[in-house]
Amino acid sequence: MPIVPLHGHAALRRRLLEAASRDVLPASLLLQGPRGVGKQRLGLWLGQALLCEGPMGERPDGEPCGRCRHCRYAVELTHPDLHWYFPRPRLKDSDPSPADIQADLAGARTDRLERHGLYGPSSGLEGLFVAAVRSLVQQAAVSPALARRKVFVLGDADRLVAQEGSDQAANALLKLLEEPPADTVLILTSSEPGALLPTIRSRVVAVRVAPLPPADVAALLERPEVQEVLKADGQRDPVAALAERVGGAPGALFGGAAGSAAAASAQRILDAVTRGGRPERLKAAFVQGAAGARGAYSDTLDALTVALRDLARDTAASDPRRALGAARAVDAVERAKARAAGNVSPQLLTAQLVRELAGELG
Ligand SMILES: [Zn+2]
Repeated sequence: MPIVPLHGHAALRRRLLEAASRDVLPASLLLQGPRGVGKQRLGLWLGQALLCEGPMGERPDGEPCGRCRHCRYAVELTHPDLHWYFPRPRLKDSDPSPADIQADLAGARTDRLERHGLYGPSSGLEGLFVAAVRSLVQQAAVSPALARRKVFVLGDADRLVAQEGSDQAANALLKLLEEPPADTVLILTSSEPGALLPTIRSRVVAVRVAPLPPADVAALLERPEVQEVLKADGQRDPVAALAERVGGAPGALFGGAAGSAAAASAQRILDAVTRGGRPERLKAAFVQGAAGARGAYSDTLDALTVALRDLARDTAASDPRRALGAARAVDAVERAKARAAGNVSPQLLTAQLVRELAGELG
């Protein structure tokens, strides 16, 4: 049961493969772009292409052949040299070993595989903690098990948590990014590159991943296994409506608990703006600020964008003025996202955002 094939990004794929074939692909890459455009999937695909040993005749432009054992293991998330790290809840053991981390990640990858690789956003409680960094650094030092090299995909790298007393692990990661072993490629992804630790950002070559064009989004959403996951997530709208709602970032449609928690706080903010008076608005800002974690806050902003696009669509015919206000409110949320990348408290940001939203929708 493989994960859903990568859709879109044709020009970028060509660029990456071309760099790989000329042996000039940076060994430490950062794929940055909006949440839900498929950055981690693209990273896994690039990893597959780098590990593939299919006959060159079957690989136009260096695309993975899809048939050799490396390709098969890669799309089943079982390739021992394609390591996929992403934010996880902190393990109960206060000092988990690399083996504990790898077992936890293997379980989480199986969960993602069961959903054909279509997963929701990381929740605010999930992070890339120091034990995960230790595990990654350790795996990077070992020779590949099966292929000629090893590839690490590190999703949501902005969730790397700097912890007191973990300087050694942090420094080992920086050294790894700066000078990876000759057989190692590191692919970081982030939808909030501004929130990346500056010491990390300066050591990776950033590549922009753009939103998908509508045809690619529709082709992805129409696949039977994608339809199955959408149904399980309670998405019942027709493909065209879903595609319009997410713009070029279909990943935003897939959500577990994190997605719904973010959707609930987005709804609370919208309710306060549209139904409440000033006290309710202040309270919404306060509650959002108290919720704390920066990751959870950006989830909320993403959910607000989705909710406002829904509102714009639902009122387009009946109340064009309101639809226009909702569309302008989406811009206000985008500005808040840009500000959130800086070091401003969610409470202040939400207070300002709520004022702006009230101006458009109130
Ligand atoms: Zn292959």
